[in-house]
Amino acid sequence: MLELKNLSCGYGAFEAVHDLSLALRPGSITGLLGANGAGKSSTLMCVAGHVSQKSGSMLFDGEDIGALDPMERVRRGIAISPEGRRLFKDLTVEDNLRVGGLIQAVTNYKDDRDRVISLFPRLGERLTSLAGNLSGGEQQMLAIGRALMTRPRLIMIDELSLGLMPKVIDLCYRALLKLRDEGMTVLLVEQNTERVLKIADDVCVLESGRVVWQGSAEAARNDSQLTAAYLGMH
Ligand code: ATP
Repeated sequence: MLELKNLSCGYGAFEAVHDLSLALRPGSITGLLGANGAGKSSTLMCVAGHVSQKSGSMLFDGEDIGALDPMERVRRGIAISPEGRRLFKDLTVEDNLRVGGLIQAVTNYKDDRDRVISLFPRLGERLTSLAGNLSGGEQQMLAIGRALMTRPRLIMIDELSLGLMPKVIDLCYRALLKLRDEGMTVLLVEQNTERVLKIADDVCVLESGRVVWQGSAEAARNDSQLTAAYLGMH
């Protein structure tokens, strides 16, 4: 699966993430946690190929993906639901899904779309609506759905629960558990620490671009110093 070794990345001369080593276990959910500006989104965007890697390496199935363009990384099975969702707001739900599916054969489209709809039935009812007219929750489902249309083996989701109602967050989290049960690997960036600790298998905590804690979610839950100091839980 994905293995980051001493990865540093950033913008121009600015290094946002320093010396990050992280290995994802296949078919697991890893939570990437930390305060605002800790480097979580930069990490995801670097894996996706949108933020420049400064040093270290990124292996996917043992192969170095560092020199591959973003499209090729998607072809290899890496998908992202980015921060802010970045939907095509003037396109319909169906067309947003179609864009995600462009990388696949046209003949796969219906099956893949129906698979997304079975995960998020609400999208099936809104296929002809413009993405910009959807509620925040529906937009999040669509961003995840669009990523799933690429048939990924690794899905990276940035700020899944930001601004959503608890009921919708529950629904999205149930979908993630279902994906994991089907064998998908999930890398989840969240501010909502308590929820992540409930469903994740592994956790990595960043502070100012550096790893300050790494281990199983169970160990994280039981580490009161960690939860109080870095995760804002008491
Ligand atoms: P948040 O939850 O606020 O998005 P984060 O943990 O995802 O936080 P990043 O967005 O990765 O953190 O930001 C890490 C650092 O990189 C911050 O200091 C941020 O200001 C900086 N940064 C992020 N995007 C850019 C950019 N496009 N250009 C320059 N610096 C950036």
